[in-house]
Amino acid sequence: MKTFPFALPLSIALALPTWAADTTAIPVPRIEIARFAGNRVAAVSYTFDDGTMGHYTVAAPTLERYGFRGTFGVIVRKTADDPDAAAKLATAGGKNDARRISWQEWRELAARGHEVANHGLDHRGLPALTEPELEREVEDARRIVTEKVGRPLTFIYPGNGRNPRVRDFVLRNHIAARDREERFGGPGFSVEKANGIVDKAIKAGQSIVIMSHAVAEVGYQPVSREELDGHLQYVSTLKDRIWVDTLANVARYVRARDSATVQIQRSESESVTYALASPLDPVVFNAPLTCLIQAGGPLISASARRGPGGVALPATVSGNQVLVDVVPGPGSVTVRWTRMSGPARSTRP
Ligand SMILES: [Zn+2]
Repeated sequence: MKTFPFALPLSIALALPTWAADTTAIPVPRIEIARFAGNRVAAVSYTFDDGTMGHYTVAAPTLERYGFRGTFGVIVRKTADDPDAAAKLATAGGKNDARRISWQEWRELAARGHEVANHGLDHRGLPALTEPELEREVEDARRIVTEKVGRPLTFIYPGNGRNPRVRDFVLRNHIAARDREERFGGPGFSVEKANGIVDKAIKAGQSIVIMSHAVAEVGYQPVSREELDGHLQYVSTLKDRIWVDTLANVARYVRARDSATVQIQRSESESVTYALASPLDPVVFNAPLTCLIQAGGPLISASARRGPGGVALPATVSGNQVLVDVVPGPGSVTVRWTRMSGPARSTRP
């Protein structure tokens, strides 16, 4: 959790003295940004590599059944425009491969809230590549995914081949890359082990990334529909403790959280007005941060509004604090709350 000093602008500070000196003065509430969305203690992203059909037919719908979304790494040159073209590509030149997800189907998954991540043009291991080869493998792929589906925000290293040089290259135009992962499938895998990995993340307050390949199909390190479903069912029982979202959404939150600043502009017994600012590109970093307002005393209810027009923001109470989801940017946020004990500490009329 990140704590911010009370950054009262001078003009406001000067307006306070008539009552601020009183011993019953209202303390300025502390505002923090939650470590993860919804003030959950940990985060998990499910990633699926290589664009095999099981991701489209089983993995995505299974995630959706629990309200979750996944990150799917596409190999650009194994993909074709529609299912027919993808089938032809799979068998071209006498090959007998299973067809991969087509661009048409990738667009469907993206429209349902899943993330389509860049997994390279030809799935070449990056550490062995020269700069011009990296440009082709990483950047040409990024441009094609952008054109076919939409800008990919994250990169999944082909074969997990990575080092500081290729990481720097990838992060020029992606907000994050998969830097470490927990295997879901393959030798020694079990649902119990996967559940244990999630338990450990919650205990440690970490964000983790799960990596899968074949899902309910013949292929590399396969997992069955039942295994994926069983695990997600378990995770869904921990929803208030662990945030399940895509690699891009978790990366967006963490980057915004670590760069955002809170400035309190006005504070009263049962309300506070503040600004939440971030230096990051507002087009990409457009997801809300969960602000925790320490209002003091057990709370009954709260509401939040932004800007002069008073657009309502989602606000909930939990014990002594108000949770408000706010996208960093212009426009002050005003949060009001009701304490169980009432506005006892105010001496103002
Ligand atoms: Zn791969």
